[in-house]
Amino acid sequence: MAGPGLTEHASGATAPDVASGPVLEVNNIEVVYNHTIQVLKGMSLAVPKGEVVALLGSNGAGKTTLLKAVSGLLELENGEVTAGEIRFAGRPIRGRKPHDLVRDGLFHVMEGRHVFEDLTVEENLTAATYARAGASGRDFDRVYAYFPRLFERRKGLAGYLSGGEQQMLAIGRALVAEPKAILLDEPSLGLSPLLTEEIFTVLARINAEEGTSMLVVEQNAAMAFAISSYAYIIETGRIVIDGPTERLMGDADVREFYLGVGEEGASRNYREVKHYKRRKRWLS
Ligand code: ATP
Repeated sequence: MAGPGLTEHASGATAPDVASGPVLEVNNIEVVYNHTIQVLKGMSLAVPKGEVVALLGSNGAGKTTLLKAVSGLLELENGEVTAGEIRFAGRPIRGRKPHDLVRDGLFHVMEGRHVFEDLTVEENLTAATYARAGASGRDFDRVYAYFPRLFERRKGLAGYLSGGEQQMLAIGRALVAEPKAILLDEPSLGLSPLLTEEIFTVLARINAEEGTSMLVVEQNAAMAFAISSYAYIIETGRIVIDGPTERLMGDADVREFYLGVGEEGASRNYREVKHYKRRKRWLS
C-alpha cells in the first residue's frame, strides 16, 4: 500500500514512506508542448522532507520537463501541465509563478550553469538575495565555506570561471535563497570525474547539514545513487521503475543499463550499453 498521500507507480512500487512526509509531490501529471506534443504521460513522484531523490533516464525521456513543470518554468517554453497535481510543502502549486516559488523555498538549479557572466561571483550571490528578505554577507560566508574556490574568485567575473566553478556558483546562488528544496538538473554535465565528485560531495553535505531536500536529475547514475535514498527511472514520459536506491543498485536491469555493469560484474563499454539500451524497451 502507498504511504500517506503517496502514489502507486507503474512498477507497482510505492513512493518513499517516511514519517516526515514529502516536501514535494507530483501526482499523475501530464505535460504538453505547443498544445500538441505530449511529453509526460501520467508521472508521479515524491521527495520526502530532508531526503535526496534521484531521477534518471535516457536523453529525451522528460526529466528536464518534469523539473520545469514543478518550478513553473514550462510556460516560458509554451509547455503546459494539462492534468494532475503538484504539491510543495503541502500546498498545490500548479500554475504558480517561478519567482513566487523561489520565495516559498523551491529553487531550480537549471542545466547549463545559469550565472550572470558579466557580474562578479559576489554580485551573482547578491543578485540571488532578492528571493529572501534579510539575506546578508553572512550567507555568502556559508556558500564560501562549502565552496572555498568561490571565495578565492569572489571579485572575478563569473564568465571567467571554469565550468566546475560556475556550477558551484549556481548551487551557491540557490543556497543564498535558503530553499527547503532544490531541483538540480544534471549538475555533472561537462565536468571531469574529479569535479563531479567534488560537487556531489558538497551536495551531500548541504543535505546533511542544512536538511535541504533535493530532486537530482542526473546522467551519471553512480553519482546520483551515491547521494540519494530513493530513485526513479523515467522512460518516454513515464516512471518505469522506482525504489530505495539500495534496492535499485541491486536490480540487474538497473545495473546493466544505468551503471553499465554486466552480470559477471564486468564493466561494459559505452557503445555496448547503448546497443543493449536500444534493443531493450521496458515499456514494450
Ligand atoms: P536530456 O537528458 O536530453 O536533457 P530529458 O529527459 O531532460 O533529456 P526533456 O528535455 O524533458 O528530456 O525533453 C523531453 C522531450 O520533450 C523531448 O522529446 C524533447 O524534444 C521535448 N521537448 C523539450 N522541450 C521542448 C520544447 N520547448 N518544445 C517542444 N518539445 C520539447
